[in-house]
Amino acid sequence: MSLSQGHEIIAIPGPSPLPMRVLNAAHRASPDIYAEPLAQLNLSVMAQLKRLAGTQAHLAPYIGNGHAGWEAAAANLFDKGDAVLVVTCGHFGRSWADTLETMGVAVERLDFGNLPPDPARIAARLDEDRQHRLQAVMVCQTDTASATMADIPAIRAAMGDHPALLVVDAIASLGCAPMRMDEWGVDVLIAASQKGLMCLPGTAFVWFSDKAAARGRSGLTTPYWDWHLRAGAEALWRYWGGTPPVQQLYALDEALRMILDEEGLEAAWRRHARLARAVWAAVDAWGQGHPEIRASVADAAARAASVTAVTLPGADRLRAWVTAECGVTLGVGLGAPDPAGALRVAHMGHCNAAMLMGTLGAMQAGLIALDIPHGTGALEAAAASLARSD
Ligand SMILES: *Cc1c(COP(=O)(O)O)cnc(C)c1O
Repeated sequence: MSLSQGHEIIAIPGPSPLPMRVLNAAHRASPDIYAEPLAQLNLSVMAQLKRLAGTQAHLAPYIGNGHAGWEAAAANLFDKGDAVLVVTCGHFGRSWADTLETMGVAVERLDFGNLPPDPARIAARLDEDRQHRLQAVMVCQTDTASATMADIPAIRAAMGDHPALLVVDAIASLGCAPMRMDEWGVDVLIAASQKGLMCLPGTAFVWFSDKAAARGRSGLTTPYWDWHLRAGAEALWRYWGGTPPVQQLYALDEALRMILDEEGLEAAWRRHARLARAVWAAVDAWGQGHPEIRASVADAAARAASVTAVTLPGADRLRAWVTAECGVTLGVGLGAPDPAGALRVAHMGHCNAAMLMGTLGAMQAGLIALDIPHGTGALEAAAASLARSD
């Protein structure tokens, strides 16, 4: 007998929970893709996506996941042998660097382990690059594996007047944490539909500045990935390099309406920050007298808004228990030094306080059931944190 029947809670950092409204919006037969209504819907979705990123820059959409977004950006920006600085703070940054290397880009890694980047080290490296060999600085705003938050404005400031482009992977942070692409001077931004955008997996987006566009076509650019052909295309099929993902467009339209027009983008950022703070309060309480339980990123200011990595002996057993007994799915300890002793709690996209308390309550029950030593008062601490309105 288990207590897992009922509404399941998916607390993995992507794909994130889908609002029923978004799912229902997608539940439509394909329309005539050559008729005006769909072309108009596409334009409206593109405009909303620019609002989401805080930009008036260009936007190229792709059918694909976040990995497709990585490859799309690289195929437009670089030639084989171009030098780039990839700032890595976890599994995703390292894997991004691997992808670029495989494409023939000359990757130099500035590795911060599983901690957020130190802008001073980026500044120091760029200072040495007198000949301006480095074409781009590339960084994940949130590395979903380490659950870090990079300070993008500080990194931009650290770049000074070095001409390198700033390329940001916001796949796990867009819609969850502030992003002001134009104000912050981000040249290329990459995101995908299934995390903070609370939509179905399957679409990636690459926003790019005039400065990035001015690089022209590179040796790696092939027609399918060419962002010039997509951004601002006359015909709908051009935007998508072929048949548009029509059901996804309906879903995106609904999800973006919910985020931008109903909740409001800044309110969504605040919600994520408050949910994150409640998770941290619970983890801190579990860690009272048990320092082996802790948020993996010590500095709260450097933690992601959308996912929290927790170091916790017995994490793999706890994850299995909460799934089997409570219907809650937690994220694995991806890229942690001891993956079996780490897990991740996602609070990403369509997540509210009740879902979060459900997740934390299941974890609390599991700690007791499995006899994993822990401090008391975690649920009280999380509730007290949620009760604060700031
Ligand atoms: C999820 C994620 C990716 C990969 O996206 P996929 O859609 O799984 O291909 C890349 N970078 C970050 C930061 C992510 O969170």
